[in-house]
Amino acid sequence: MPDLVPLIGEPLAIDLVNTRTAAGDLLATADDLRAWLRRQDGRIPEAPERAAALTDADLAAVRRLRAVTARLLHHARHGTAPDPADLEALHVFQRAAPAITELAWNGTALVAARRRTGSAGDRLVAALAEAAAGLLADPAVTRIRECAADDCVLLFLPAHPRRRWCSPTGCGNRVRVARHYRRHRPG
Ligand SMILES: [Zn+2]
Repeated sequence: MPDLVPLIGEPLAIDLVNTRTAAGDLLATADDLRAWLRRQDGRIPEAPERAAALTDADLAAVRRLRAVTARLLHHARHGTAPDPADLEALHVFQRAAPAITELAWNGTALVAARRRTGSAGDRLVAALAEAAAGLLADPAVTRIRECAADDCVLLFLPAHPRRRWCSPTGCGNRVRVARHYRRHRPG
């Protein structure tokens, strides 16, 4: 079985979908979600600074977004038409906290910053949904692969075409060791 440590560092939407592994759900509790956001280490500017700001309702929204993203990714990878209800669901998540270019006077000039309005949970979900929308329309989406280990469902976007495993030290190593033992089994 793959380890129960989330795979981090793929495009954000893939990281999110990968929290649902063959061995279990890595976003089962609000604490899991907080731990996942910490592991993202600054990649999500909308991650609330105060972890307590995230509620169980926010967790439920992130999990619903994950399910929608997984279905949309499946269709995008295989070049098949998505369910319009899933597209609309994605857009609803994006609209929960739209980003605007907010201006502030710094004494000599106006400076711009992209800011989302809404609760901490809505801002997070909207940012994750926006990342999913970006990936789904990216031509690279058809290069996303599933880990070659039989019992692993994790996805990745290979930087080079020979990559076969979600993680060379995880599944790659695990499968190599299993093969070795099969070859050297007595009888
Ligand atoms: Zn794997």
